[in-house]
Amino acid sequence: MVKSFFLPDISFRYNLYSGHLLSALANSKRDWNVIDFDINSLNTLLTTKYTIPVSTELYQERTKIKQTRKCQSCFMKDFKNVFDDEGNQTKEYFETQTEIPDHEINIISEMNGLLTQIITKEKAVLQWICPKCDNVNLIEDTPLSSKAWGSNSTFGVIWEKAIKSITNRSTFDEMCMKWVTAFQREIDVGMMAYQKAYFDEHGEAMSNNINSFSHDGGRN
Ligand SMILES: [Zn+2]
Repeated sequence: MVKSFFLPDISFRYNLYSGHLLSALANSKRDWNVIDFDINSLNTLLTTKYTIPVSTELYQERTKIKQTRKCQSCFMKDFKNVFDDEGNQTKEYFETQTEIPDHEINIISEMNGLLTQIITKEKAVLQWICPKCDNVNLIEDTPLSSKAWGSNSTFGVIWEKAIKSITNRSTFDEMCMKWVTAFQREIDVGMMAYQKAYFDEHGEAMSNNINSFSHDGGRN
């Protein structure tokens, strides 16, 4: 197969632009228009294939966490990826309690019998029926999972930078700092993918070593 297109060597411009960005960030009076321009220039260098999309809507969609409850009566098959000594990947299957997404669960309130009402002092009990096995689970026995993303997670997308207004004046700098830090993390991952693809195509690395944001150690 003949490749009609080679990924360009962007290493020189990449380091130049990231240098601009870092000095704009180190400036005591941060100009967020400049920083916005710098980081977007850097992002655009990654070519359409590796550029991080800037979209609040897409970000929200990708980062939404589906909380679940575990049915106490049935099990499902799940797997994890395991690697042998030679790095070959295989799937290891195991059984685990069925997890039902919260939005598929109808919580119903069941009246207690008179005796139970007297003993528990509760008129009703909250429960849900497992859509897989039809068994009843009590809400108090099946708490919602409390899944959360780790602080260093990347999603291949970044939300849109806040626009300065009268209402966010006091928090604007902090909001933008959070934004640019997350954006840098995403670009780092995008650049790693770019470097790998470049190496696969050209059989050698780009001419300059890439300065990764997560290794510069100067930020917190
Ligand atoms: Zn079940």
